[in-house]
Amino acid sequence: MKIAILPGDGIGAEIVAEAVKVLKALDLKFEMEQADVGGTAYDRHGHPLPEATLKLAQQADAVLFGAVGDWKYDKLERQFRPEQAILGLRKHLGLFANFRPAICYEQLTHASSLKPELVAGLDILIIRELTGDIYFGQPRGRRDAPDGAFAGQPEAFDTMRYTRPEVERIARVAFEAARQRGKRVTSVDKANVLETFQFWKDVVTEVHQDYPDVQLDHMYVDNAAMQLVKEPKKFDVLVTGNMFGDILSDEAAMLTGSIGMLPSASLNDKKQGLYEPSHGSAPDIAGKGIANPLATILSAAMMLRFSLAQPKAADRIESAVKKVLAQGLRTPDIYSAGTTKVGTREMGDAVLKALG
Ligand code: NAD
Repeated sequence: MKIAILPGDGIGAEIVAEAVKVLKALDLKFEMEQADVGGTAYDRHGHPLPEATLKLAQQADAVLFGAVGDWKYDKLERQFRPEQAILGLRKHLGLFANFRPAICYEQLTHASSLKPELVAGLDILIIRELTGDIYFGQPRGRRDAPDGAFAGQPEAFDTMRYTRPEVERIARVAFEAARQRGKRVTSVDKANVLETFQFWKDVVTEVHQDYPDVQLDHMYVDNAAMQLVKEPKKFDVLVTGNMFGDILSDEAAMLTGSIGMLPSASLNDKKQGLYEPSHGSAPDIAGKGIANPLATILSAAMMLRFSLAQPKAADRIESAVKKVLAQGLRTPDIYSAGTTKVGTREMGDAVLKALG
């Protein structure tokens, strides 16, 4: 088994180092190889996703990714911006299923902006389709409006589209995931207005016939956004398209209070995956040694479970994280009175120790 380690920019190197430390302590047989990505790769090699990095990622069974981006690259041409590395990896590895669990740890319920009783014990999973939808649909561009009330005026347009195989495969991923959890899937759409999402709903309903043991509900995206803050615990697995998933997964992330705690996984049909924290490169705190490494450490646990077939090792890491939280250790982003403030490295060391 081979893991590609791509720390990236900002706090990427600091948080990935802690996850690597934890992985090494598990004493499992896998090889780890590191490469540059994002702005760091642009500075060193002239491209955010150099050929050698892409090749390493393609050959690996899994990629552990830190984060990319910094405001200093904002003026670069779009193709050279750090964020293009993630889009490139998604495209070249065919990563179509994005898993974003939103778990509210008992000790951190106060960190949420919602009332503790609404989020205590929250454990939901958002599955976002990652390669289709309005983000990639063609045609797109700018032109003079060919018709309508403002015909002849400059306009911009994008195309929302989904093919049957794209919807089928993400629906199967959601039903399979639900089987390992609470056996409930909520498919989020906008079928009342958009043809693409009426089609989505029809296909998900058809695929559901193969999963009679899983309960399926359909919900319009505006209602889902509302229910997520009104009664988030009523969900188990939510599955949705690229754009709605982008928005709802960030909303769900904030239910838990700290973005520094949330892992994510993006998988292809061979279970090869890219694992990364849900947050960005946090340039404002980079190099200060105060970033929370737990989202990255928990991403490594997801990697062991989904791509490396090591569920017991994944359980060990997740239990160790719960243990350090129970011990009252907190990086500044999750600190509250009465707990012990620690830095990135101390938090990593504590997880290592809690592994036993
Ligand atoms: P961000 O997630 O980097 O930071 C938002 C806020 O959360 C900041 O105050 C930051 O200090 C804090 N934060 C984030 N991660 C933290 C952690 N582990 N511990 C403690 N605090 C943490 O989002 P942003 O500021 O909007 O973006 C910064 C850069 O990251 C931009 O260049 C953006 O494009 C990029 N970005 C990258 C990814 C990715 O690599 N997948 C995702 C989102 C944003």
